[in-house]
Amino acid sequence: MVETAPSAATGDTPAGDLAAEQNGERLDAVVNLCKRRGFVFQSAEIYGGFRSTYDYGPVGALMLRNVKEAWWRAMVQLRPDVVGIDAAILSPPAVWEASGHLESFTDPLVVCRECGRRHREDQLEDSELCPECGSRGTLGEPRQFNLMFRTHAGPVVETGAEVYLRPETAQGMFVNFANVQRACRLRPPFGVAQIGKSFRNEITPGNFIFRTREFEQMELEFFVPPAEASGWFEYWCAERLGWYVGLGIPEDLLRLRPHGPDERSHYSDATSDVEFRYPWGWGELEGVANRTDYDLRRHAEHSGEKLEYFDAATGERYVPHVIEPAAGATRAMMAFLLAAYHTEEVRGETRTVLRLHHRLAPYQAAVLPLSRKEHLIERARQVLGTLAPHWMVDFDVTQSIGRRYRRQDELGTPYCVTVDFETLEDGAVTVRDRDSMAQDRLAIDDLVGYLHERLAR
Ligand code: ATP
Repeated sequence: MVETAPSAATGDTPAGDLAAEQNGERLDAVVNLCKRRGFVFQSAEIYGGFRSTYDYGPVGALMLRNVKEAWWRAMVQLRPDVVGIDAAILSPPAVWEASGHLESFTDPLVVCRECGRRHREDQLEDSELCPECGSRGTLGEPRQFNLMFRTHAGPVVETGAEVYLRPETAQGMFVNFANVQRACRLRPPFGVAQIGKSFRNEITPGNFIFRTREFEQMELEFFVPPAEASGWFEYWCAERLGWYVGLGIPEDLLRLRPHGPDERSHYSDATSDVEFRYPWGWGELEGVANRTDYDLRRHAEHSGEKLEYFDAATGERYVPHVIEPAAGATRAMMAFLLAAYHTEEVRGETRTVLRLHHRLAPYQAAVLPLSRKEHLIERARQVLGTLAPHWMVDFDVTQSIGRRYRRQDELGTPYCVTVDFETLEDGAVTVRDRDSMAQDRLAIDDLVGYLHERLAR
């Protein structure tokens, strides 16, 4: 059970060295690990896979829940000024007419006459060159392609029965503005938050779970008095950047990038992206936008409902402005995985470890009986029983203890609790720390307190 601490290790590849790595190497390694250990699988793989669609496996589902839980904790639980909702995914065209998505939620699509491949014109490095087949001058005229998925409600496919899968969760907060404000007696500045699935018929999905057609978003619409909008915009930019740092992404892999005026969405007055340094370069992780009063005004005009705030104390009536930090849960999970992935050499062997923040790790602990002897397993199950009400805990009896440690390292489990033959005599277990690989021997009675102290930080 004794291992060499990583301080004595060589060949460590901290996440900060991303740029120096071979292009795509880290991405491939993370994608492989995700499949091998049960984080993420290609959807419908036995049928050849469904392009750019993914299923979250046993540990991936746990981690994705943890990402969303960490967001909800920071954005709703710890904030007296934010409430949460859970709105419908299907919505009528009227919503998207008012929001401007039917008209403007488009990407410029170009098709190569030579190979037939479709591209997003705004993502081409050279607007003349097809990145697929290398032909020059074969890309057709761009046309605006609407990204919304349309379907029909009810048994008859006819005009009037059209509905859309939401391409963002935000409209759920706008159309419910008056309901929520009244039900909870809220006074700006206040926020309405939501986590849920969104769908976009992306022209070029790819880079694993970075850009998919079905994904999860975590969005906050923060309603403020108009004069306070720019101050709150700055506040949320800093706050959101800090959230990723607090959950373990090194600062040099993150930056804030303000959008230029040509880049902004149709509703936005100012936007900054929280960007992450992916293996292929800097890219969006989250967008923070000042949506002004655009959405509430449009919905008020289109629905005929008053969507404004009346301050009884001052007699003032106004349409609040909105600051929106909009993050992707699945994209954030990818960034957390990429940043956490490390390899290092320990006693001549390569150790792969996900240094995930304990709040994000699929399991916070694993209980490992040293052998498969029945009485040892029974004692280990009792230990599992004391931990399981507090945390998500894995239980593994297969293979050698060394291999089980390696498996837990690859899952990012912060603590392994080993039950050995001495445990049966002295009621003590060995706790091994994922990052330092240091081991502590302590009484089972003290285990919950010991882990609480470390996992609460
Ligand atoms: P991009 O420029 O990457 O297409 P966007 O600016 O259109 O993104 P927003 O509309 O700001 O994205 O959505 C907010 C967040 O939702 C993004 O920062 C990202 O984390 C997530 N997101 C958006 N589209 C996708 C997608 N196709 N797959 C996964 N996550 C996405």
